[in-house]
Amino acid sequence: MDEIKTRVLVVEDEASIRRFIALNLNRAGFEVMEAESSEMALEIINEFKPMVAILDVMLPGIDGFTLCSYLRSKSSNMVIIMLTAKGQDTDKISGLEIGADDYMVKPFNPMELIARINANLRKIHNVRKPLEQRLSLLDMEIDKDAQRFYRKGEEIELTPTEFAIMEMFFQNPDKALSRHEILDLVWGKNYFGDIKIVDVNVRRIREKIEDDPSNPKIIETVWGVGYRLRGEK
Ligand code: CA
Repeated sequence: MDEIKTRVLVVEDEASIRRFIALNLNRAGFEVMEAESSEMALEIINEFKPMVAILDVMLPGIDGFTLCSYLRSKSSNMVIIMLTAKGQDTDKISGLEIGADDYMVKPFNPMELIARINANLRKIHNVRKPLEQRLSLLDMEIDKDAQRFYRKGEEIELTPTEFAIMEMFFQNPDKALSRHEILDLVWGKNYFGDIKIVDVNVRRIREKIEDDPSNPKIIETVWGVGYRLRGEK
């Protein structure tokens, strides 16, 4: 099955910066098109249909702000991130006021830009999702449809089994569950494997989601019983 890549348009007149951004976004799995001016961006935008636009503020001809307001007037779903130069604090505010989702101050770490793109795409994605597909508890959220788990807004990659365990916990917050109950709920009643598989998976989940896995605060051990997900209580 072909993977649908997120299309990103990078509008920046400084070739070295533009290529550096494009290269890093490509490596991160995005489909990228470059434009050295707003005029060029407007020429390719109808065909390329970007989901994300990275716009430098200072551009020859039509500037980044003007392009931003135009793109926003055409699409409320596009993620728009402005690039501003160091010290231009007013640029950030102006950019956000005219509809940018975020801004980055140059020079920046490309990994930071990728993180911002993903965080903003998620926000838009969240609004569109039917509610029942998303369960949240304290600072955690699971998206059943996409099989994704988030804590503090950041995605944490879980294996399908780990995800199934978290989903089961989310449906039973503040409830002490025995290892046998967990095994039945996650693996099904016909599973006759070692009960230790529950402990192994819980330990792996803790290593991924707990601040201090040796002192777990999210999945608590209930001595002599099993485990409990700390909920609102
Ligand atoms: Ca520039």
